[in-house]
Amino acid sequence: MSEQQNVYPVRDDIAANAWADEKTYAAMYQRSVDDPEGFWAEQAKRLDWIKAPNKIKSTSFDRHNVDIRWFEDGELNVAANCLDRHLETRGDQTAIIWEGDDPNDTKHISYRELYERTNQLANALKELGVSKGDTVTLYMPMIPEAAMAMLACARIGAVHSVVFGGFSPDAVAQRVIGANSKLVITADESVRGGKQVPLKDNVDAALTRDGTDVCKNVLVVKRTGGDIDWKEGRDLWFGDLVDKQSTECEPEAVGGEDPLFILYTSGSTGAPKGLKHTTGGYLTFAAMTHQYVFDYQDGEVFWCTADVGWVTGHSYIVYGPLANGATTLMFEGVPSYPSHGRIGEIVDKHKVNILYTAPTAVRALMAHGDSVMDSSSRESLRLLGSVGEPINPEAWEWFYRVIGNEKCPIVDTWWQTETGGIMISPLPGATALKPGSATKPFFGVQPALVDNEGNMLEGATEGNLVILDSWPGQARSIWGDHDRFVQTYFSTYDNMYFTGDGCRRDEDGYYWITGRVDDVLNVSGHRMGTAEIESSLVAHDAVAEAAVVGYPHDIKGQGIYIYVTLNDGIDPTDELKKELTKWVRKDIGPIASPDVIQWAPGMPKTRSGKIMRRILRKIAANECDGLGDTSTLADPSVVDELIEHRVNQ
Ligand code: ATP
Ligand code: MG
Repeated sequence: MSEQQNVYPVRDDIAANAWADEKTYAAMYQRSVDDPEGFWAEQAKRLDWIKAPNKIKSTSFDRHNVDIRWFEDGELNVAANCLDRHLETRGDQTAIIWEGDDPNDTKHISYRELYERTNQLANALKELGVSKGDTVTLYMPMIPEAAMAMLACARIGAVHSVVFGGFSPDAVAQRVIGANSKLVITADESVRGGKQVPLKDNVDAALTRDGTDVCKNVLVVKRTGGDIDWKEGRDLWFGDLVDKQSTECEPEAVGGEDPLFILYTSGSTGAPKGLKHTTGGYLTFAAMTHQYVFDYQDGEVFWCTADVGWVTGHSYIVYGPLANGATTLMFEGVPSYPSHGRIGEIVDKHKVNILYTAPTAVRALMAHGDSVMDSSSRESLRLLGSVGEPINPEAWEWFYRVIGNEKCPIVDTWWQTETGGIMISPLPGATALKPGSATKPFFGVQPALVDNEGNMLEGATEGNLVILDSWPGQARSIWGDHDRFVQTYFSTYDNMYFTGDGCRRDEDGYYWITGRVDDVLNVSGHRMGTAEIESSLVAHDAVAEAAVVGYPHDIKGQGIYIYVTLNDGIDPTDELKKELTKWVRKDIGPIASPDVIQWAPGMPKTRSGKIMRRILRKIAANECDGLGDTSTLADPSVVDELIEHRVNQ
């Protein structure tokens, strides 16, 4: 495709001041794979340890003994690393800029304030009988108390499990039971796009489910003052309990391999997996990736638009930035409220330097045309980032041109809940960019491509993406189900971590994620990833978003069924269908010629904003009764609409 030919060289001004230029990257990367022990022993020094680790790496990907440990004899405290050690030099610096759903609602919280409030909350948790190793479920709005709650757990060695605030009572109940949480921290209501979401009501409903009686208390932040029910003896107001506590709380010495949090995947490919992340390796990796991938410079304002309910929010709103003493922006609302210009307006208001968002958000803005950014200048921006799905080259170019004013490099970061931090990504001062490619591996990450039998593929080729050796941020297990962990990631190929993603490597050694392996199409014996066909369609002026799936086809084995969301104001005509078919044939080749196109006013997406192709595949195959786990679906009504307008082949 033509877009793939575009290469954006490293900008000299960025390379000159970056943490890593091309040479530094090459040398550090080589060292990180030649001598992981030495490399990571040095990197661990970026943290304050109560007891410095001597054992650096003990890891095995052998399916009979999957065992991953980093810095296991070290002791540290994550909250002390994110707060205490910054007090002397940056106590008055803003740690969190909070931007409310309402544009008139803003707060700046300094490192000292965050430290004091976190300690008060940590003391409150202790008063409720929460201690080291206990789990706490967080079901919260995007408010500073969410970060405080994560850090307060870390301070006393408790394990947090954050459940995205858009989930239903059933999902909350399952996660409370799964984690065996004695405490839930929530708010009366959250506010998104001017609408209230009844968080406390949802918790009340969740806690009527069988098995949730492990939970003894619910701590409630007053966010809106809306009406809620109250269960005496169980429910407590956050303010009542926390305000009276001491602002000092000795940080617990936590083992390098003690758990820090449990977090569920998005559920794009099946039932979500509750991953276990531990302390020393995770924080080292989150901090290091945040520094290098975003080339974070002291004093910059960093904004990651994810929710803290996802791993992106964990690593790049809270832990990475705060470990590095950064100013991190936390946004309560949605990009479309009060208008579609909101993201740009927030950038201007807070002079954001680095903006890290998702392809779904970029495509949504792009559908409204360039004028959607007219209400802001975004002059403060220096760097852009993308995560969550392959970013179509067309969306990349729009992000670069319209949001970034053609001066900000884009780091397309490939990683997963399981990886804890960014794995494949450009470094702004080191890597020339190719729109649509996540480019090169981060330090210590050894990606490889294998065929279905697990044979290593060399050179420019396409295959299944695996990682050959452990890195510190890697998840250690699935909480309470190590067998599923082994089964899911280590039993497909011997001694390799299987990512579940398909990938192409080009002649420059750049990696291009082609989509989920589960979603790969096989048309007349040709295997095709979803990303390439979708990107071709998104490059057409009429198309906002596209999703491609295969369906059983008598002759070809699989036919190509395409769902298309059109840009604002475009009419869905048969003429246009023909044009799109021609477009794809010309762009990719007759083999990719669509068999069916269905107009989709909306796509079924996970609550983290990713297209759930497995549902689209079922609809295309007319298997609408067995849609599988739909608990993480953002808007079930989209599915009904698509079923109703399904095109018979
Ligand atoms: P589940 O594992 O439950 O199916 P999920 O894989 O969507 O859900 P996450 O851990 O949130 O859950 O997402 C990781 C996946 O997101 C990756 O495996 C990859 O498919 C996709 N992804 C993330 N970042 C990128 C990127 N920059 N380019 C391409 N794909 C990406
Ligand atoms: Mg996954």
